Amino acid sequence: MITMDYCKPRTVDEALSSFGDDSVYIAGGTDLGVLLAEMLISPVGMIDLCAIDDMKGISRSDEGLTIGACTLISDIAAADDIPDCLSLGAAAIGSPQIRNMATIGGNICNASPCGDTLTPLMVLDAEFELKGAGGRRALAAGDFFRGPKKTALEPGEILTAVRIPAASLEGSITGFRMTGKRNGQVISQVNMAVWAVIIDGKIENIRISAGSVAPVPLRLIRCEKMLQGKTAAEIMKDAFMKNLAAAAEVEITPISDVRAGEDYRRSVSGALLVDIVTDLVSEGVKDED
Ligand SMILES: Cc1cc2nc3c(=O)[nH]c(=O)nc-3n(C[C@H](O)[C@H](O)[C@H](O)COP(=O)(O)OP(=O)(O)OC[C@H]3O[C@@H](n4cnc5c(N)ncnc54)[C@H](O)[C@@H]3O)c2cc1C
Repeated sequence: MITMDYCKPRTVDEALSSFGDDSVYIAGGTDLGVLLAEMLISPVGMIDLCAIDDMKGISRSDEGLTIGACTLISDIAAADDIPDCLSLGAAAIGSPQIRNMATIGGNICNASPCGDTLTPLMVLDAEFELKGAGGRRALAAGDFFRGPKKTALEPGEILTAVRIPAASLEGSITGFRMTGKRNGQVISQVNMAVWAVIIDGKIENIRISAGSVAPVPLRLIRCEKMLQGKTAAEIMKDAFMKNLAAAAEVEITPISDVRAGEDYRRSVSGALLVDIVTDLVSEGVKDED
């Protein structure tokens, strides 16, 4: 049997001061609980972040959107005032039971390459607000993920909130797709998010991120460059789409594992990108009519 100290602070500062050697933070516990059950970790202290009200909820201001790190995945999936790619990514996580316990902060800090909110946050240019013994700092999503289950968090540091800048919210459309071995309660073999600004039928700006295809969620910069400045008519040509899919397949660095083979991940990445781009371009052109 494992014995440990457990505390449930009400403020971030209280949580920080409770953190000691061999402590862990817990939010929904849906990742941490697996490690504990399998005795892969044996912390001496567990600090539950879920009673910290300042770390919960979704709010909007002129600067953009702020999502507290302890906001439930189910609340993000159900929110209608956040970009589609993020609510769809959240809705793709686990089952209703998992989504009702899991938090966005846990999904981020767990840093699994297949985490379903990570690619949406990458394309939304999200910034993570961190607080530790040394004070507050903010880090871009792209600088936070350092490898499978590895992040830029310093020991004891807490992710307090996720910020999505207003520039990522206004006048843009987004999409998210994933593939898994079945439709529900399944970890992504590949997931992909796209953010785009389409004006007069032309892609003015685009960001693409693929997950479960590299040690960290990847930006597909080469594919973005292929699409940037292109018109819907140019994009919708078969030859262009074939080249786009081929570019996605070589831009990623997947491995084979229990969920999918490397070759499958490559070909499905190309197909997902073509699907999302087709949807967004059609939607972007329709919105302008
Ligand atoms: C059956 C099942 C199905 C699942 N399906 C999916 C899926 O389809 N897609 C997917 O992406 N994930 C899936 N997961 C994984 C998991 O549910 C998510 O990653 C979830 O978002 C984790 O959130 P949590 O609050 O439960 O994190 P926890 O388990 O509480 O914490 C995870 C890690 O993050 C750290 N942490 C948590 N919050 C903070 C914070 N604010 N600051 C600093 N560190 C923090 C913890 O110390 C721990 O190391 C599944 C898990 C299970 C058990």
